[in-house]
Amino acid sequence: MTVTTDAVVIGGGVMGTSILYNLVARGVQSPVLLERTTLGAGSTGRSSGAIRMHYSTEVNAALAWESLKTYENFDDVIGGGDVGFVRTGYMVFVPGHATDGFRHNIALQQRVGIDTQIVSSEEAGELAPAFARFDGEVFAWEPRSGHADPSGTGLAYATRARELGATVLLETPATGVEIENDRVVAVTTAGERYATSTAIVATGPWSKSFLAGIGIDLPLEATRHEVFLLRRNVEELPSHPGGADMANMTYFRPEAADLTLVGNGNREEFADPDTYNPRPSMDYLEDVWLRLSKRLPGIAGAEFFTGYAGLYTSTPDLHPVIDRVDGISGLYICTGFSGHGFKLAPAVGTVVAELVLEGKAKTVDISALKMDRFERGETNTTSYDFKVIA
Ligand SMILES: Cc1cc2nc3c(=O)[nH]c(=O)nc-3n(C[C@H](O)[C@H](O)[C@H](O)COP(=O)(O)OP(=O)(O)OC[C@H]3O[C@@H](n4cnc5c(N)ncnc54)[C@H](O)[C@@H]3O)c2cc1C
Repeated sequence: MTVTTDAVVIGGGVMGTSILYNLVARGVQSPVLLERTTLGAGSTGRSSGAIRMHYSTEVNAALAWESLKTYENFDDVIGGGDVGFVRTGYMVFVPGHATDGFRHNIALQQRVGIDTQIVSSEEAGELAPAFARFDGEVFAWEPRSGHADPSGTGLAYATRARELGATVLLETPATGVEIENDRVVAVTTAGERYATSTAIVATGPWSKSFLAGIGIDLPLEATRHEVFLLRRNVEELPSHPGGADMANMTYFRPEAADLTLVGNGNREEFADPDTYNPRPSMDYLEDVWLRLSKRLPGIAGAEFFTGYAGLYTSTPDLHPVIDRVDGISGLYICTGFSGHGFKLAPAVGTVVAELVLEGKAKTVDISALKMDRFERGETNTTSYDFKVIA
């Protein structure tokens, strides 16, 4: 059977659902989202949910900043429910040898309009007394940053999109994209053919294989990352802001009343999205906990609560691909968000909808995210990259 629709979004993570909402909110008639299993089943459901602004390139900083404005008032701006945004403030720590790059990044972020500033060690101590500070380190403080619920965000986007007329189909993997005369004509599933002129691929860690199936080879890798939750002794350590510690290679944030979530940037393994091990490793827990306790000494007295692993989807420059495919009219790609897609998702949905409907992204200039940049050798790698971090 054939169903006809204006647009098909493939993948029900936070990107696909944000794109779906942004399309239907701009008047696309009855778009369809196809999800292989359930909403948030990929990286989104395992995301740490940290929302911070510290980036070394304008495009990521601008996408994060635009998105924060949505997260702060999600239910008013989008609808679909509360996504649990909690403003904790966020501190970024760098060791003395990296301060030039750090200052460069902060100046870039401030030019974008982000509320961030370098603070002295004394100010850092007043803002976040729980954090240890060391000689020569530099600190930045983002007062508006925090965290939110990634699965809840995907669900809220999908809920609102459905209210506006979109269809969200679960347990319905897309099996291919039909292309005739260099144009998208349909997206197929096992039981249905969706005739459409617009297909948007937002398949997270499955993107490399899905795109290969339609003859597109992108340098994407899925890598496994672990996250741990520790239950604080709240008498010793009542709470703390979020943070990224470039010296000890951890990022962390409070969760609910007495938990601290910690992730890290020093161990990643290539992984197959269909077979990777989602469980935590106890040897790594010890290592990460020790590194966290260097910055957050009061966490030494916590107890292990739980842990899990999820997948990043990364390109060689750790920036996403958001682009239309040259030579195939109506085909768009939105993938490769590594460890920072959640915080970018509201603005990503906006720019993808602009790209599809107006031919060009307007809210943020995404020309740095084109898919052919790797062949052209024009990547977003800077000498000021800090690779921690979610
Ligand atoms: C452990 C971990 C911690 C993270 N922490 C943070 C953080 O603190 N802050 C932050 O900003 N980001 C963080 N991230 C990154 C962020 O979660 C991801 O960048 C983001 O969720 C990517 O969303 P997505 O929609 O592109 O992919 P996914 O969420 O993976 O969604 C892709 C979807 O496509 C579906 N799919 C695949 N193939 C098909 C098909 N053929 N047909 C239909 N559907 C298909 C999948 O089932 C999946 O639901 C973290 C990620 C991980 C793994």
